[in-house]
Amino acid sequence: MAESKPKINKVLQNAEEDMPRQKGRLAKDYKILKKLGRGNFAVVRLLQRKSDNKYFAAKIIKKSNLKQEELKTLHDEVKILKKLKHPNINSLIETLDTKHHLYMVLELLAGGELFESVVKKKRYTEAEAANVIRQVARACEYMHQRGVIHRDLKPENLVYLDEQNTQICVTDFGLAKFVNYEGGLMKTACGTPGYVAPEILKQQKYDSQVDLWSIGVILYILLCGFPPFVEKNLKALYKIIREGKYEFPSPYWDKVSAEAKDCVGKLLVVDPKKRLTASGLLQHDWITGKCSKSPTNLIREGYDKRFKRYVLLNKLKRGVDMVLFLNRLIRLGKLNEALEKEEQKETELDKALNDDAAAAAKK
Ligand code: ADP
Repeated sequence: MAESKPKINKVLQNAEEDMPRQKGRLAKDYKILKKLGRGNFAVVRLLQRKSDNKYFAAKIIKKSNLKQEELKTLHDEVKILKKLKHPNINSLIETLDTKHHLYMVLELLAGGELFESVVKKKRYTEAEAANVIRQVARACEYMHQRGVIHRDLKPENLVYLDEQNTQICVTDFGLAKFVNYEGGLMKTACGTPGYVAPEILKQQKYDSQVDLWSIGVILYILLCGFPPFVEKNLKALYKIIREGKYEFPSPYWDKVSAEAKDCVGKLLVVDPKKRLTASGLLQHDWITGKCSKSPTNLIREGYDKRFKRYVLLNKLKRGVDMVLFLNRLIRLGKLNEALEKEEQKETELDKALNDDAAAAAKK
């Protein structure tokens, strides 16, 4: 009988492609394999531990490329990750700090980003969306209890651990911070435009509740395929976020259950004190499964097209450096000038997407 071939995980395919020279501290214990991605500061590579052949991911950061402030941000990320051990948080296995490099060895996330996986599906139900949100809420409950705020929850930072897409992990703690409740709450502006909480935009003091707002935005998109807050430019976008102005437009939301809408409605609340906490979210009937979920396939009439368009838009936008965008603006006192520039970029992106959509429609 022919032996069935083991299924090779996509991430592990061609693992030895583009291998760098095997030298330095990291190479002592690990085989350094192909490039997995590139972040703001880091090149991320696949690793194989020599002692047991297990795979990991390494964030490799060249210190000379970084400003003092950026190096501090990285050290904060390491400090925070060292404190967090949870099945739904990307764990840090070890760090190697050498004269020229900082290596962060992380658990390998081999299943791909949440939205990428939804896009590939033919069927996606409320039960599946609730399962994802439950895991993210568990990760948040755990980190918030330890005084950590992620501050940049968005679909790209929700990645499946396994190819079967059963376990989702919160990743990229580059903007995460310890909140010091005694010394007051935070005021630093940060996040990603579509997911940022109103209290951050209002430059008010804020706490871990900002993460719950972002979960609300992610859940909204999972249920209908488009984001709750969309505007032609950032200025207008921030205005409607500050006001918490969104709708459940027909026909897209008609088949979504009342309980799912209730859950979104209790997350997208402008007043952070009235917004569900992570623990509160875990007790919401739609999450616990106490109420019936609509069995309807969410992927119908345009959901997949809208979703794909949204995922594409985000991929393009990733090149645009918007992280800590607000801070820069506030510091430089150049809010209007910078907003205009961002508007220009947005318009270019919109044009590219419209061209893309027009080309698709012609086919
Ligand atoms: P940075 O913090 O420098 O912005 P990211 O955390 O965004 O870096 O990582 C950059 C890319 O590397 C990600 O988009 C992803 O493709 C890949 N990556 C990061 N961490 C992992 C991981 N644990 N497992 C697999 N791939 C990863």
